[in-house]
Amino acid sequence: MIKLWKWVILMSERTIAAIATPLGEGGISVIRISGEESIRVADKCFVAFSGEKLLELEGYQASYGRVTDKDGQTLDDAVALVFRAPKSYTGENVVEISVHGGTVITRQVLRRVLECGATLATGGEFTKRAFLNGKLDLTKAESVMGLISARNDAAAKISRGAREGRISRDTADILDKLLETAASLAAYADYPDEDIPNLNQENFSSLLDECYTKCEKLISTYDTGRAIREGVNCAIVGKPNVGKSTLMNLLCGTDRSIVTDIAGTTRDVVETNVNVGDIMLNLADTAGIHTTDDTVEKFGVDKAKEKIENAELLLAVFDSSIPLDDDDKQLLSSIRDKKCIIILNKTDLSPAFDKDDLGDFEIIEISAKMGDGYQELCSAIAQVCKTNMLSPDDTVLISERQRDCVNHALQAVIAARDTLLCGMTLDAVGVCVDDAIAALLELTGKRVTNEVCDEIFKRFCVGK
Ligand code: GDP
Repeated sequence: MIKLWKWVILMSERTIAAIATPLGEGGISVIRISGEESIRVADKCFVAFSGEKLLELEGYQASYGRVTDKDGQTLDDAVALVFRAPKSYTGENVVEISVHGGTVITRQVLRRVLECGATLATGGEFTKRAFLNGKLDLTKAESVMGLISARNDAAAKISRGAREGRISRDTADILDKLLETAASLAAYADYPDEDIPNLNQENFSSLLDECYTKCEKLISTYDTGRAIREGVNCAIVGKPNVGKSTLMNLLCGTDRSIVTDIAGTTRDVVETNVNVGDIMLNLADTAGIHTTDDTVEKFGVDKAKEKIENAELLLAVFDSSIPLDDDDKQLLSSIRDKKCIIILNKTDLSPAFDKDDLGDFEIIEISAKMGDGYQELCSAIAQVCKTNMLSPDDTVLISERQRDCVNHALQAVIAARDTLLCGMTLDAVGVCVDDAIAALLELTGKRVTNEVCDEIFKRFCVGK
């Protein structure tokens, strides 16, 4: 376990700096400095037009001036914003220097700040310091990364929820219950003959049941959250000419795939990411699956089969204007165990298809060419991926690590319940409850190893 105090002291000896905005041409760029000496470091290269030193400023005050090189020559006009510990992102003294956006100027200013005594920050070091200084717990730190990398509104929303402390709050609820259980177990073990209210097996059992339900509910949100954040690997499959590429283009809103009435036009897998409602699909339009002697086509068909194997969701397309044939039947049998939506396409033409032949799959009827049935398809995708079940106030776990911790707690709670039921000593139940408590303390970072901590922050970009 980390010796937090030691780490904090070690870290705070270094004043760190990094470019906090993306490198490129833009309105402004921000160079961020954090650490006890940050204001002094900034004062060495920043000259205020008012003549005032940054050290004279209070927190949240800004100064307009210029950043100079070692000979006193101006590198750029700048605004320096001072934050005083502990009221800053990192909890340390922080100075943010805003200069004109541009790769060269920004790098020159950073170099100058480093010359003046700061060291280059490592990836995520600002947020790591915020965590070590108690400004945010680990779930909130992870949410910062989630917010930065969000690729759609829904992903930003769930990360914002975590940033506002929803995971911490729900975890604290479960922890309270577990701590109450642990305390009651200890009291009961010490005074078995006393008639203390609520100290009985029934009460322990119901406390553990509550913890079980809450842990399970939290875990159940993870897959939906992952689908929203990372997207769902989704393959469009079907025999040639049923309208797979037309469907791909409908979902993308552009002509991503080539559409012709010549069977076998799509010979390779065409891939793209597309937002469908709240969910992002990592979409692959595959070559039509059918029996062929053409070597190139065969290669495409094999790749399509591989995609079916690895996809988390299949959109299996059938042409409603022609009767079901052997290729369709073969496809139906190969997707039987997969998460799948059957799409009956070309509904603008006369039907020649008996829907009963498709068995008990969920069927959506569309005309990819005309755009009919698009909304129904979006709803079906949301339903299959369960994103429609997510209410705006739901807590959603946003990392595999968080899921592992809650799952560990859940397994420990199950073990505690089983131990209680089979009449083993209350000490044994207590050991399981302690295990669950430890897992949740790791989730929020109250008790976490150096390795876990490093693993989390190394995924951050430099400057965050
Ligand atoms: P793929 O081989 O499965 O990718 O099929 P394509 O998307 O290339 O379409 C094959 C042919 O069917 C093209 O001529 C499309 O214009 C046509 N097509 C696709 N979808 C529809 C539809 O909904 N209605 C009609 N009438 N034609 C369609």
